Amino acid sequence: MEIKRLTCIECPRGCSLVVTVENGIATDVKGNFCPRGKKYAESEVVNPVRILTTTVRASDGRMVSVKTDAPISKNLLFEAMERLKGVNCSVPIKTGDIVVENFYDGVNVISTCNVE
Ligand code: SF4
Repeated sequence: MEIKRLTCIECPRGCSLVVTVENGIATDVKGNFCPRGKKYAESEVVNPVRILTTTVRASDGRMVSVKTDAPISKNLLFEAMERLKGVNCSVPIKTGDIVVENFYDGVNVISTCNVE
C-alpha cells in the first residue's frame, strides 16, 4: 500500500487529495470536495493525462496558440511538443479550427486564437 498526495486540477479550488494506492489502483480518496476529485485521482494513478497547450508557427512566421481538444497521456507530452515544432499552420485561422487532425488516437490539435 502506498499513499499519494495529489492536487486536483479539475477546477480552480485545487483540493489536496490523499490517495491510497494498492496494486496500482486508487482504493481510497480523501480531501476531494466533489466526485470529480475522486475520478481525477483514480485516473491520475493509472494513466495521468493532460491537455497540451502550446504554440505553433503560422505560415507567415507568427505564432498561433493551440491546445489538444482532449487530454493525452502525460508520458506523450514531450514527444507531442517535439512533433508540433515541425507544424506550420496556415492563416487566417479561427478559435476552434483544427490545426492537426488526429494528432493522437482521435485527439486533434486546435487553435485557441483568431489570427487574421
Ligand atoms: S475535488 Fe472537486 S472541488 Fe475539489 S478541485 Fe477537484 S473538481 Fe474542484
